[in-house]
Amino acid sequence: MTRPLRRLRLSVFGAVQGVGFRPFVFRLAEELGLQGWVLNGPCGVIIEVDGEQHLLARFAGRVVAEKPRAAVVAAVETVWLDAAGFRGFDIKKSEGAPAPSAWLLPDLATCPDCLAEISSPKERRHGYPFTNCTLCGPRFTIQTGIPYDRPNTTMAGFTLCPACRAEYEDPADRRFHAQPIACPQCGPRLWLDESGGSRSEGAAAWRQAAGLIRRGQVVAMKGIGGFLLLCDARSPGAVRCLRERKRRNEKPFAVMFPDLASIRQACEVSELEAVWLESAAAPIVLLRRQPHNPLITEEASPGNPWLGAMLPYAPLHHLLMKELGFPMVATSGNLSEEPIAKDNEEAKSRLRGLADAFLMHDRPIVRHADDSIVRLARGRQLVLRRARGFAPLPLRTGRPLRPVLALGAHLKNTVALGWERQIVVSQHLGDLETAASLDAFRAALSDLARLYGFQPERAACDLHPDYASTRRAESLDLPVVRIQHHHAHVAALMAEQDIAPPVLGVAWDGLGFGPDGTIWGGEFLVVDEKGFRRFAHLRQFSLPGGEAAIKEPRRCALGLLAELGLGLDRLAPLFPEGWAAARKLPASAALSPRTSSAGRLFDGMASLLGLRQKNSFEGQAAMSLEHCLDASEAGAYPAKGGDWEPILRAALEDIDKGVPAGKVSARFHNGLARMIVAVAKDAGLERVALTGGVFQNAYLSEKAAALLEAAGFLVYTHQRLPPNDGCISAGQAYVAGLGWHA
Ligand code: ZN
Ligand code: ZN
Ligand code: FE
Repeated sequence: MTRPLRRLRLSVFGAVQGVGFRPFVFRLAEELGLQGWVLNGPCGVIIEVDGEQHLLARFAGRVVAEKPRAAVVAAVETVWLDAAGFRGFDIKKSEGAPAPSAWLLPDLATCPDCLAEISSPKERRHGYPFTNCTLCGPRFTIQTGIPYDRPNTTMAGFTLCPACRAEYEDPADRRFHAQPIACPQCGPRLWLDESGGSRSEGAAAWRQAAGLIRRGQVVAMKGIGGFLLLCDARSPGAVRCLRERKRRNEKPFAVMFPDLASIRQACEVSELEAVWLESAAAPIVLLRRQPHNPLITEEASPGNPWLGAMLPYAPLHHLLMKELGFPMVATSGNLSEEPIAKDNEEAKSRLRGLADAFLMHDRPIVRHADDSIVRLARGRQLVLRRARGFAPLPLRTGRPLRPVLALGAHLKNTVALGWERQIVVSQHLGDLETAASLDAFRAALSDLARLYGFQPERAACDLHPDYASTRRAESLDLPVVRIQHHHAHVAALMAEQDIAPPVLGVAWDGLGFGPDGTIWGGEFLVVDEKGFRRFAHLRQFSLPGGEAAIKEPRRCALGLLAELGLGLDRLAPLFPEGWAAARKLPASAALSPRTSSAGRLFDGMASLLGLRQKNSFEGQAAMSLEHCLDASEAGAYPAKGGDWEPILRAALEDIDKGVPAGKVSARFHNGLARMIVAVAKDAGLERVALTGGVFQNAYLSEKAAALLEAAGFLVYTHQRLPPNDGCISAGQAYVAGLGWHA
């Protein structure tokens, strides 16, 4: 049973105040018969409207398309919420003075006007890689302070030439007050350093770089948020070479395409996905690959039916792509999970041996920002990595928060500031496991607090005593609120979508520290103003060898079978190096901690199906289980509460009968979706929130949501924050800012 009425919240960022925006919104809402309100918030205009979904979608489109002429819309974020029952349409009183932080905007992809300019030989910016205007160009990655004026950007060192100054000062010009404005006369310069020591400059630099890529070499290119490593995406040899140098065996590489038409040759692209690809945020979009397309070598995303595709988002990308005319792998300039390199000298030392040449410029990058990643799920955008193009847009919260600094999770870390009615989440910072990541983490903390002039009253962190983030929180001389990992997951979703408590949070992920000393990860939590209660959880099993099981799905399979007292010997072939020692592991409480982790259950299932015994990156086995799934299979294995025993027994029977992996995987997924519905019925709460890294799995999210909705529940999945641990800091900020902890 779907409810016909929805509420849409639009946050419109940019120069949108004092230009007649609110009366325009009022008239548009009246015309479409929508109820709600509009107000000037501290960061732009905020609109909430109730109505039927198709009308709200039309409204959202027209707000941008028909905006007042003087308004400059830099970014729009939409969130679908429960209908609020508004009556009429109000222009509400402004909330506080526009904060200087109103101009902390994300980096925006090159606009069509600027693209036309660099393509036209008649223009003075023809072929100039640093062309931008009020509607496009770098923002967050070049801003050193507030307010957002040229002296507070890394363009401060470039003195405007008379022609640029005239544009900058002319209110009728599209570069009026465009802070990073530049031209070949006065702006940053481009050069290419090759390994042999030769250097080329300007247009010769990108032409030469294109030549190297065409010849199968790897080029490190300084982009917007850091260095990208580029090579020919058609060439198995070039891509394999990059893999070897980057020590990245199988993890998929993102690919940058010359244009939308070429993406369509390699992948299936829906209307919505095309909009995202061409948006100002220009994220990587996970798309289903066309089978047997000659455009992209299998090496780019081996054994993976999905491909991360993106379009050029900076003038330099456009110039390179036009010169090449074929897609190129474009992956972060780093070694495995370290932060992306951003400074010239840093890149030359950190990426030495990875790249054959460096395409660089002299516009400094203040803070790194990886490419964001999104995918389609439930007919909406699901963000998997929130960085360039999205950060640091604030999330509006329905309730005011006390000022809190949240330090986030251990893996896929982000940090967050919460105050008044907003939470600002940093860009994706990475896993806090290396010195380089810890540096980035510390830098982001002080950087955000300084930019926003932020004075926290408390710090929020994870319950895990040994995380670097926890220790950092303890060193801050602030009261510390410790928030359980899965509680934070659910709270992040509640914050994002203003979900009224109580809710049943289904928080399924890899691992999180539980207050009982076991490892949690398959949780059903009832969350309200007073904290959370563990209503149910997946049946626990032992993780043979502890942390090692994260990298070895076969160990998860061993733990699962041992838990059920099933014969273990069928697993012997999976442990050729030493079965005798391995089979004893599950019985050792010291070596094999107990967990309720859903992620490890997926890993174990993938192992039993013979899909994968060792992970070369986090979540690989679980992904292969989703990838092999045969969606035409409607069957479901039975479950009993949070107990997966009947699911696993039925799966083993099917495997032994030789049922194809795709069908077993579908029945496994469907069984878990039904388990969620059954537990939700037991809990008896109307609202169910699905969160945690496992819900990056679009099939599981969609299946569980559909079954829950059919059973009458209101279902929430993430829209602006990633379901993985990138959302933890926001959840911590929300709980601590509201005092919603026990
Ligand atoms: Zn532009
Ligand atoms: Zn100039
Ligand atoms: Fe998590």
